[in-house]
Amino acid sequence: MDNVFDMLIIGSGPAGLGAALYAARAGLNAAIVEKSPVSGGQIINTTEVDNYLGLPGIGGFEMGETFRSHVEKMGAVFIEDMISSVKNSDGLYQAEGGKDTYKAKTIVFAMGAERSKLGIPGEAEFAGRGVSYCATCDGAFFRKKNTVVIGGGDVAVEDAIYLAGLCEHVTLVHRRDELRASVSLQKALLSKENVTVEWNSIPDEVIGEGTVSALRIHNKETGESKDIPVSGVFIAVGMDPVSDLAKGVCDLNERGYIIAGEDCETSAPGVYAAGDVRTKHLRQVITAVADGACAVSSAEVYIRTLG
Ligand code: NAP
Repeated sequence: MDNVFDMLIIGSGPAGLGAALYAARAGLNAAIVEKSPVSGGQIINTTEVDNYLGLPGIGGFEMGETFRSHVEKMGAVFIEDMISSVKNSDGLYQAEGGKDTYKAKTIVFAMGAERSKLGIPGEAEFAGRGVSYCATCDGAFFRKKNTVVIGGGDVAVEDAIYLAGLCEHVTLVHRRDELRASVSLQKALLSKENVTVEWNSIPDEVIGEGTVSALRIHNKETGESKDIPVSGVFIAVGMDPVSDLAKGVCDLNERGYIIAGEDCETSAPGVYAAGDVRTKHLRQVITAVADGACAVSSAEVYIRTLG
């Protein structure tokens, strides 16, 4: 492709879509590259979003569609491709995709984050066969069965609440004696009759033959080990940034997040990081969308310096 874009936005979650909206309004020759034509990133796997201004209780999938159709109406260019590398070549950035090579004056990294792995025996072996990282995607497979959720944050508690509506019984396994999740979520969880919590408990192994039959845990206070008989194990122990593309292009921190402040500027001129992939305090849809706007505002200043 001979066209040199003013801006190539990689990722079509809320941060990428926010950037695409602002780029379109600024009249930039911008394109947004996405792996699949379903926009929204992590929110499409969320049943309900209640903390985005003006859209109370909207479904995650519907939110992604709503964002995308707004951006499309503004004339944004969407490209469906999988970018495998980004490099600086003669002052321009070159992104290698499966279908084409894209050149741009600026890059916005907006690849988001994905669920962390635990790294315990059986986890990888049973992934997709009883081990899941998405309750709203896979919960229906465990209707009327027993499941376990591992973690104590907002996602784990939301997952446990969701599964409690489908499953016979849900056990939340948490490594401490208090949850990290918001108080309102904790209250909702603890009011469920078919949910129990295993406090101070460390998951050791997913057990089964062909499919999952139990999760082995031990209590770190008593040292006691036990098997919880379950068909499904849902792992919700935090997120890892999807930042491989940025390695060698700009600086990352020790956890792999792209180092960027509120202006979304990275260590490389013309390269911006927006949303969950950057170092920040609060990773939410509302802050990701705002990052998209800030990244474009910073990029406009940089593009003007290029003459
Ligand atoms: P999180 O808040 O970082 O919670 C991760 C949980 O997993 C923590 O309870 C942590 O235990 C536990 N954990 C981490 N590593 C573990 C390990 N190796 N073994 C066992 N347990 C482990 O992550 P999250 O729940 O995925 O949420 C990500 C972000 O999205 C958060 O900022 C969250 O607030 C936000 N979010 C917000 C909403 C909402 O506002 N509606 C919904 C979803 C997500 P410790 O508590 O002991 O550290």
